[in-house]
Amino acid sequence: MIKIYNTLTKQKEEFKPIEPGKVRMYVCGPTVYNLIHIGNARPYIVFDTVRRYFESVGYEVNYVQNFTDVDDKIIKRANEENRTTNEVVEEYIAETLKDVGHLNVHRATCHPRVTEEMPQIIAMIETLIEKGLAYDAEGTVYFDTAAFEGYGKLSKKVLEELESGRNERETLRHDLSSGKKHPMDFVLWKPKKEGEPYWESPWSKGRPGWHIECSAMAKRYLGDTIDIHAGGEDLVFPHHENEVAQSEGANGVEFAHYWMHNAFLNIDNKKMSKSLGNFKTLRDVGEAYGYDVVRFFMLNAHYRSPLNFSAELMQAAANSLERIKNGGATLTFALEHSTLVELKEEERALMEELPKFETRFNEFMSDDFNTADAISVIFELVKFANTYAKEGASKPFIEAVLTLFNKLVDILGLIYKQGDDTVEGLSDEEIKDYIEKRKQAKKEKNFAEADRIRDYLKEQGVLIEDTREGVRFKRV
Ligand code: AMP
Ligand code: ZN
Repeated sequence: MIKIYNTLTKQKEEFKPIEPGKVRMYVCGPTVYNLIHIGNARPYIVFDTVRRYFESVGYEVNYVQNFTDVDDKIIKRANEENRTTNEVVEEYIAETLKDVGHLNVHRATCHPRVTEEMPQIIAMIETLIEKGLAYDAEGTVYFDTAAFEGYGKLSKKVLEELESGRNERETLRHDLSSGKKHPMDFVLWKPKKEGEPYWESPWSKGRPGWHIECSAMAKRYLGDTIDIHAGGEDLVFPHHENEVAQSEGANGVEFAHYWMHNAFLNIDNKKMSKSLGNFKTLRDVGEAYGYDVVRFFMLNAHYRSPLNFSAELMQAAANSLERIKNGGATLTFALEHSTLVELKEEERALMEELPKFETRFNEFMSDDFNTADAISVIFELVKFANTYAKEGASKPFIEAVLTLFNKLVDILGLIYKQGDDTVEGLSDEEIKDYIEKRKQAKKEKNFAEADRIRDYLKEQGVLIEDTREGVRFKRV
């Protein structure tokens, strides 16, 4: 039985899947306009480990993580650098995938992008308007928070409290200028400003608000009700609260059964964030200490405990991980050099000890993914290996210890080959998507864009060839 701490109920609950043997999981993804910082790496590592654990006990996990590829910050960056938003987005999606690949994070089953989901987003807003849960104020569509009964149930905030907590002047300004009925009403669709990317809609030429994208993508790729929705704890309010309102308002059924939130990675006991400017990029930290050390460092704490980043703690994490790696290397060496092919008498009793490590590891992981204590079991196993599975031990015994060691270490994704070759390349589907976009660009006589896509694919090790039968690609 796996127990999950559910933000919705504020307690640990037994995980019961919607469909037996399957997990439908949605994790909010990044806005792609710069390199991710190590705070952002925390949810990537934590929820990848949650997924790996579910898979290790036999679940099939459908893991969806979006890229927010339309946003004020992306537009600002593109303007500053005199580039198109598309160029900025392509660059940072590729960089993000490269970074998280270095962390041994598996690719999501599907990485939808907002700009490719407009019909679904618009349809959902239309439903909300039809149901009286949203209104159009001169081209801007707002969610009508007062019309949705459960507003505040995830973050445990009530509308009055939210309202009274706001700066009065701000509230007044909003009310006077924006056409909002209630200061907590949030944007579902907004009209474009001069020079901004836009899409046609029944209300205005414009683009969606941030929250609606996740509701629309979760619905499309996972269904109206999903098992797990996850992200960093700063997303509980307003982002996830608003997702609940939108999805439950539009679909009429519960949105997510379990809400999981990781605590912050802090620096000098303050949240590491882009806006505070106190961040370190994952790339800098990964290159300095090793990406595997970053992964180990994060998993060595419980995901719901705040974690402080410091050079000393990273060094300590590097030393600890080294002990685990040495344990694995010693076992491999011992196995290669052992000449005893039969179990020794005293090893029979020791063999019976082995499953106990796995049981305890699973008990910790099943208790709301307690990776910190699960790691302590790996240390105990290393100690056991160093004591018994060394020179003079039999092959079958060493092999059994090594197999268990590899299994546990793999569930946490702790030991893997470092370097560029750990980066998974583009999937066939992604390549086909690019080819389709290039075709479209050519059709629109945007040859610069078509060439850019071809060059980008080449950088990713994919050559494309125009043939009479169509476009072919090959990996080089
Ligand atoms: P953002 O790009 O700020 O939307 O963040 C992307 C993801 O990283 C979200 O799930 C955030 O909650 C999470 N996140 C951002 N900063 C931190 C931090 N300092 N510690 C842990 N998670 C964070
Ligand atoms: Zn989201």
